[in-house]
Amino acid sequence: MEALTHTDLQDAFKRKSLGEYHLPELEHVDWGVLDYLGWIHPTGHAGYVAMPIQKQVKGLVLKRMVNHGGRPRTHMCSWCHHVYRSRGTAMFSTIVEGSDGRRTIGNYICGNLDCSLRIRNLTSDPPTYLPETIHIDRKIVRLRIAVSAFMTRANLLSDLL
Ligand SMILES: [Zn+2]
Repeated sequence: MEALTHTDLQDAFKRKSLGEYHLPELEHVDWGVLDYLGWIHPTGHAGYVAMPIQKQVKGLVLKRMVNHGGRPRTHMCSWCHHVYRSRGTAMFSTIVEGSDGRRTIGNYICGNLDCSLRIRNLTSDPPTYLPETIHIDRKIVRLRIAVSAFMTRANLLSDLL
C-alpha cells in the first residue's frame, strides 16, 4: 500500500470519538508488505485499521475482545483466512456509522491485525494451522475485498458511492 502519514490517519479518523486514541509509530513501517495499516491500543481493548480506498484513507475503530478463558478453539481470520489452532484471533467489533450506536458488526480477525504479514508468511507467532496453497496475489485481492466489505457494512464507504 502507499505510505500514510499521521495527517492521513488524523483525516481518516476525524469523525470518530477516539478517546485515548493512540497513533502508531510510522517511521519503520514497511509499507510494501501491507494491504492495510492495523495497530492495537496499548490496553489491548481497541484496534485501528486504515486503508486507502479510491484515493481516500478510511479508518475503522474497533473494539477488541480476546477470549482468554475456556478451551482453546480453532478460529479462522475472516479477513485473511488464516487458521489458528488456539489463540490468535480476537473478536473485533465496530459501531455502524449513522446508527447512533444501535448497530454493531463484528468478526474474528487476526488478533494483532497483521493479516498482511500472515498472507506473506512474514510472521509465525502464534503459529498458523492449515496453510493455504493459493497464490499470494489472490490472497492479497481477497484480503483487500474483505476489509472493504467490512467497511461497507460499517457504513464507512457510503460517501464514496
Ligand atoms: Zn487475518
